Amino acid sequence: MGYITELGELFLAKNYKREKLAFIKGSGTRLFTEEGEEYLDFTAGIGVCNLGHAYPELLDVLQKQAKLLWHTSNLYYTAPQAKLAKKLVDLSFAEEVFFANSGAEAVESALKLARRFAYENWGANKNQFIALKNSFHGRTLGALSVTGQFQYWEGFEPLLPGVIFIPPNDKKALETHFNENICGIIIEPIQGEGGVYVLEKEFIELAKDLCQKYNALLIFDEIQTGIGRTGKLFAYEHFQIEPDIMCLAKALANGLPLSAMLAKKHIMSAFKPGTHASTFGGNPICCEVALKVLEIISDPLFLKEVELKGKVLKEKIHQLKQKKPNIIKEIRGLGLLIGIEFNISAEQVYKKLLEKRILVTQPKPNIIRLSPALIINYKEIDFFINTLQEILMMIETNL
Ligand SMILES: *Cc1c(COP(=O)(O)O)cnc(C)c1O
Repeated sequence: MGYITELGELFLAKNYKREKLAFIKGSGTRLFTEEGEEYLDFTAGIGVCNLGHAYPELLDVLQKQAKLLWHTSNLYYTAPQAKLAKKLVDLSFAEEVFFANSGAEAVESALKLARRFAYENWGANKNQFIALKNSFHGRTLGALSVTGQFQYWEGFEPLLPGVIFIPPNDKKALETHFNENICGIIIEPIQGEGGVYVLEKEFIELAKDLCQKYNALLIFDEIQTGIGRTGKLFAYEHFQIEPDIMCLAKALANGLPLSAMLAKKHIMSAFKPGTHASTFGGNPICCEVALKVLEIISDPLFLKEVELKGKVLKEKIHQLKQKKPNIIKEIRGLGLLIGIEFNISAEQVYKKLLEKRILVTQPKPNIIRLSPALIINYKEIDFFINTLQEILMMIETNL
């Protein structure tokens, strides 16, 4: 065990299941350990470093902003924050932006805004939420309360009352449980942590219709699917349905802590001075980097390339599935967010990939998730596929 790993084992909280592996440097799609070993990163920090590690243009703006201004508090305006808000508005359905630091905080602010908007317009009884089973929205108590993976609840109850969970894509349950007291429904267009399940268009359409009928707000948690991950800048574009509120985080500043909650003006207007705040939210350095991230990723040519690489990667996994139908069960996802469901435990695939120095994530016991940096190239995709094929053949001979 290396020195850093040893320190971590001794002094860090044990709330994560960590590999005994410490990285000291990153470049593009590669990470380097303290011993100098090179890894191919198909996680991108769980869909965070969409432009890979140490992207030169991001380094430039980061260094420039670090010399200019770090922090002022939100008692004042700063150029990076104001410009980033305008950019996000220009690129999305939204008209105003609230900035925070993490995904869970963006979700918290969305839940608070939905409640406050309902309260101001229809009274205090309209305070319930609909959320989906198998969803993931973060670990703070509010975000956890709308997270439909109940193993994460153990020992933390009581959580927020008034959250109704329905199965994803269950239109009947959605209609049955919608009523006047619902102030919002929160959904991920693709359930990422849940194992990469893409929601059906008709289900999202019905959610939109019911929100309009009952004056509730449609909240999209695009923390994992936003910022080009799926081949569109935002995943809602795949469904041609605009939410009322959208949460962004993960890839927004390519690894610096920044999140955003976006909405139309008449909705955001429920947030009056003093109703909600964040000390670090909209930090100038993070916002300046995010501005550059959006400039690069929102280019239609860049997004087209993401879509194409996603198609190629998926197609190659489908070819593997045809060769090994008894091992691979299903392939899901959009763009470069791909889930591979196995008929076998995914743990051994994960471990063998790690031995071959390829990093992936395993959101569920039988599912592997691929979320490489969007700048991944075709050679790296081929290398990944060849390695995976080798591993599957090895596993098959041992079955
Ligand atoms: C990662 C994630 C979150 C939580 O983000 P944090 O920054 O860890 O709080 C919330 N929702 C979705 C969909 C996510 O993928």
